[in-house]
Amino acid sequence: MADELESKIAEVLRDLGEDPVREGLEKTPSRVAKSLRFLTQGYGQDPVAILNNAVFDETYDEMVIVKDIDFYSLCEHHLLPFFGRAHVAYIPNGKVVGLSKLPRMVEMFARRLQVQERLTVQIAQTLEEVLQPRGVAVVVESIHLCMMMRGVEQQNAFAITSSMRGAFADDSRTRGEFMELIRHTKASFA
Ligand code: ZN
Repeated sequence: MADELESKIAEVLRDLGEDPVREGLEKTPSRVAKSLRFLTQGYGQDPVAILNNAVFDETYDEMVIVKDIDFYSLCEHHLLPFFGRAHVAYIPNGKVVGLSKLPRMVEMFARRLQVQERLTVQIAQTLEEVLQPRGVAVVVESIHLCMMMRGVEQQNAFAITSSMRGAFADDSRTRGEFMELIRHTKASFA
């Protein structure tokens, strides 16, 4: 039996002039419902809890960077994908977090309806809240299908957002070091 979300998607197909029970579309409402639930599963996840599970006391006090974190999200204005890479850095102040938790956190925020600016700030804020580090830097680079496929049809709808806190906001050399380090992509090490 179709659930409520599936019936609503069938309704949308009908409104678009389609026949939701023709062969090719028969299973589409259930696929779309499943896909939408997957793409928004971040609502049911708690990034603070995930990070807190992997926080360690550590005297390391140099910059920690995880860059080229791939993410896929949906813009909240058009429900169309935007996707790209996030680069996350912090300078510890007695506490570090397991490196693999940074991509997990990015994914949790990306799997919600988003705008790129908020995604960027949420990543920075959460890291700041959990680790209270000397600084946090987040840069997000992505392309937006809502700009490429509709409206202005900008084929290079590439956007960069950043959030710099603590030492990264106060000290241009620290910020410069971070920006320099993320400039080199994975490919350049191949
Ligand atoms: Zn959009």
